[in-house]
Amino acid sequence: MKIIETVPEMKIVRFKLKEPVGFVPTMGYLHKGHLSLVRKAKAENKSVVVSIYVNPTQFGPKEDLSKYPRDLQRDLAMLEKEGTEIVFFPSDKEMYPEGYDTWVTADKLTKPLEGDSRPTHFRGVTTIAAKLFNIVQPTNAYFGQKDAQQALVIKKMATDLNMDLEVIVCPTVREPDGLAMSSRNVYLNPEQRKSAPVLYKSLLLAKRLYAEGKKDTEKIRGEMAALIQKEPLANIEYISIANPATLEELQTIKKSALVSMAVKYGNTRLIDNMMLGE
Ligand code: AMP
Repeated sequence: MKIIETVPEMKIVRFKLKEPVGFVPTMGYLHKGHLSLVRKAKAENKSVVVSIYVNPTQFGPKEDLSKYPRDLQRDLAMLEKEGTEIVFFPSDKEMYPEGYDTWVTADKLTKPLEGDSRPTHFRGVTTIAAKLFNIVQPTNAYFGQKDAQQALVIKKMATDLNMDLEVIVCPTVREPDGLAMSSRNVYLNPEQRKSAPVLYKSLLLAKRLYAEGKKDTEKIRGEMAALIQKEPLANIEYISIANPATLEELQTIKKSALVSMAVKYGNTRLIDNMMLGE
């Protein structure tokens, strides 16, 4: 496994890799969710590149950039075990040299949900994804359904900008109690951690209500909120039931819906989602 820290070296090495090339962009502090993407990339490609880069431009001024968890040695050991060919681990100076001035933004899809709570987040996400795609030039790039809006925005960017790659979205990997795996779960104290599976429980409740024939989103959202509010440590930021392609809120579920949410435990913000009707 080769660890590459500069853009020119990554570009040179890339063209020596066997095609097709699978790419998994991450911010490190890896868990089984990340590894599921690496495994899928490994199964579908001849070479796998994983990037580890905590992208500062996708964090808001009051967010957790400086204390975002990092453990490079552990990450490298996990990636080595998965048979990763290349780890791209650039510095901030390498990605955003002095005078950096170009941004990639998607419009409508980035306004609701996460974009509403984190107004500059997706500009950072699309910019770094575009840069990484240009540097790595993957055949296939792998993202998690855990960040459903991010996956949708990146797919849209790749289509709209005629990028020559396939964006592949992989299912959310969960802890045994249902909590979606996330690098940020380490921020939870034991009481918060015990309470946090309520996000998944509320998604399962939505799924059950829908299966029973309930289509009115206000009612479904109401029941989900009531369940979460039974947990005194949980603060709901939003619960959305939206068109899975446009992210516009639905009043009634006709064919399918993306149920998604952000819930705060103290300063820790958890997100989760589930598709209904697929
Ligand atoms: P991050 O390091 O949080 O930026 O995540 C890197 C990639 O892993 C993103 O495409 C995430 O959607 C994906 N990911 C994170 N958590 C999970 C999970 N629990 N299951 C599946 N994919 C995940």
